Amino acid sequence: MTTLSFEFFPTKTEEGTEKLLNVRDELAAYNPEFFSVTYGAGGSTRDRTYAIVKAIHERGIAAAPHLACIGSSKAEIREILKEYQDLGINRIVALRGDLPSGAGFDGTELRYANDLVEFIREETGDHYTLEVAAYPEMHPQATSFEADVQNFVRKVKAGADSAITQYFFNADSYFYFVDRVQAMGVDIPIIPGIMPITNYSKLARFSESCGAEIPRWIRKQLEAYGDDSDSIKKFGEEVVTDMCKRLLEGGAPSLHFYSMNQAKASLDVWKNLI
Ligand code: FAD
Repeated sequence: MTTLSFEFFPTKTEEGTEKLLNVRDELAAYNPEFFSVTYGAGGSTRDRTYAIVKAIHERGIAAAPHLACIGSSKAEIREILKEYQDLGINRIVALRGDLPSGAGFDGTELRYANDLVEFIREETGDHYTLEVAAYPEMHPQATSFEADVQNFVRKVKAGADSAITQYFFNADSYFYFVDRVQAMGVDIPIIPGIMPITNYSKLARFSESCGAEIPRWIRKQLEAYGDDSDSIKKFGEEVVTDMCKRLLEGGAPSLHFYSMNQAKASLDVWKNLI
């Protein structure tokens, strides 16, 4: 039986939170292993991330806050780890994070995700299951694919239990990455991050910034649909479902959906797989 998990981002209004909790309930019916909640580097969403994590946890579902070290001091991170430990949370997605452009690195004591993983282990031992990020198509700031792979392995050696990938639309990039790091001794699960396709212009903008490639044959078809959002969603569902089937057949241990705080697009894909 394949397992799944979903990512949320923290909401800004009470109305948004209300809607998100309904989405949580709809998705919870599919027994996800956990819901993760993103975090604004530098602590910009600290309270909002905490509030959503708490609301998920209180419903008896596992919640995994993301925690980014860039722009924060060790003391701040220590405090956050303690808050979540007190709440009964035992899984964290440990990241370096991205500061908004123009923001300085003020207060940063832990520079990379491997430093954060090491720090969490020093501070809390084995309390937390630690997820880290993986980039089958290479992190956009990495100096080379090889260096990025080495840096990924460094995070695993620092104590990560599992990894979630940046999204991609080319299953071969995932299989290649997994083979490469396994050959370097990595044996933790590497869970593909799945981005449902619902809106072409948003997806194109976001993919540009995070270094995820939309293959030409997908891009050209999505472009051709213009404002025909039904066709975009239908084609997107087909393409993402086919990729997920390949990933699962090829040994992917689970799927992590970037839900964008919506239930339908992820579930449309998931229902085709079960
Ligand atoms: P790292 O693993 O530290 O890598 C960052 C870069 O530095 C890479 O280019 C790497 O090759 C290089 N590097 C790593 N270690 C070293 C080292 N020791 N020495 C020299 N170079 C090194 N961002 C947010 O702000 N909030 C979120 O909630 C969030 N959630 C995410 C969830 C997932 C699953 C993914 C895939 C990404 C998420 N991001 C989030 C984006 C992420 O923070 C950015 O991609 C960020 O630029 C890198 O974070 P990282 O943890 O992968 O960093």
